[in-house]
Amino acid sequence: MERACAIVGGGLAGFVAYTTLRHGGLAPGEIAVFGTDPDPVAAWRPRAEAIRQRRMRSESDGHCYPRSFPGLAPREALRQGTAAPLLETVCNRYRPTVDEFLRHVEELRERCGWDESFQRHRAGRVRAGPRGFEVDDRGSFGHVLVATGHPGLAIPPELAGDPRAVHAYEPHGYADRVAVVGAGMAAATEWLNALAAGAEVVSVRRREPVRRPLNVPRPLFSKAGLAGFHDAARAERAELLARFGEPSYPPGREWDEPLESARREGRFRISATLNGEAQIICATGFRRGFEHDAVLRGLVAEHGLDTEGRWIVLKADGTVPALSDGTRALALSGVHSQWAYPAADTLVGMKYVARRFLRKVRTCRTR
Ligand SMILES: Cc1cc2nc3c(=O)[nH]c(=O)nc-3n(C[C@H](O)[C@H](O)[C@H](O)COP(=O)(O)OP(=O)(O)OC[C@H]3O[C@@H](n4cnc5c(N)ncnc54)[C@H](O)[C@@H]3O)c2cc1C
Repeated sequence: MERACAIVGGGLAGFVAYTTLRHGGLAPGEIAVFGTDPDPVAAWRPRAEAIRQRRMRSESDGHCYPRSFPGLAPREALRQGTAAPLLETVCNRYRPTVDEFLRHVEELRERCGWDESFQRHRAGRVRAGPRGFEVDDRGSFGHVLVATGHPGLAIPPELAGDPRAVHAYEPHGYADRVAVVGAGMAAATEWLNALAAGAEVVSVRRREPVRRPLNVPRPLFSKAGLAGFHDAARAERAELLARFGEPSYPPGREWDEPLESARREGRFRISATLNGEAQIICATGFRRGFEHDAVLRGLVAEHGLDTEGRWIVLKADGTVPALSDGTRALALSGVHSQWAYPAADTLVGMKYVARRFLRKVRTCRTR
């Protein structure tokens, strides 16, 4: 029997899509979620824990509710009986704690029906069939959203197998002399962590990080900024995306002051190369591109999907043009939907895709 929707990938992007579909009127029995772990933060939490992340990089709107408002700031204000989170939001300074965010996911999971729809299954193949899409031998679905997340951690080839090396997103402590490779948010967090643990830190970087509060420039979260991006020619769009992927971390005294005082004490320095440090923390992020993901690679090969560089070319609403029409939709969410929304690997980006996917599902239903 054909079900209305399948979500392939049970992480945060899959969860946001699910809460949006439920809010839009779909029952748990109409949605199948295929994932490797029923906990939507199973992939995210250990990474955040490994870098000892305490606050979210996202702001009040970085949540999994289907509606934007009220975000996490008003809810925290209400729960704690203080206006402070609201005041911080006004000047873009509110960052929910990781604990606050995890509590929110847990509460929402309990009441949205997620566990009823969840099936523990790593999908190997998604393909367009005569009606909708097939996910392995798990049935036929009118619409599919693929949200399989980052395809593995990136380790510089010269450090693969080096016993001194650990990826920043894997559990680790700190040696007395630590080299941190990379210069983005995870690297910056690790400089401070290692310094706080009493280590001497060398930041190994090829280029200077950009300082910005969010992982892409703020205008790209707005309608006008996004329209400019969508209007750009293909090659320019790919270049822009590559540029947004450059390392960045937020501006602010909380980053600068500890680094400056450690620099004065001779405990923090910048280098272009490694120099015999006892521990090497690779804050080098994830492997990039659809080719590293078996489901997406298969879809591209089997259906000859249009690609540009490491991206699958998508419509502005996150759907794959060749496989989406008035009767069915295949959408990508999370990092693989950057072609539609540069900040795709954020909760706000996941909501952007989820809402448009819901709209597609509804439109197809009423035909
Ligand atoms: C340390 C860290 C901190 C971050 N902080 C923030 C923040 O503060 N705010 C913000 O907005 N964003 C943040 N992000 C970005 C983003 O929210 C996360 O990357 C998030 O985990 C992405 O969710 P996802 O569902 O796309 O991928 P994941 O969370 O990785 O989930 C994908 C899931 O799909 C499963 N899967 C993969 N392939 C298959 C398959 N073939 N079949 C079935 N299941 C499959 C995986 O096992 C996994 O469970 C952060 C990211 C990191 C790494």
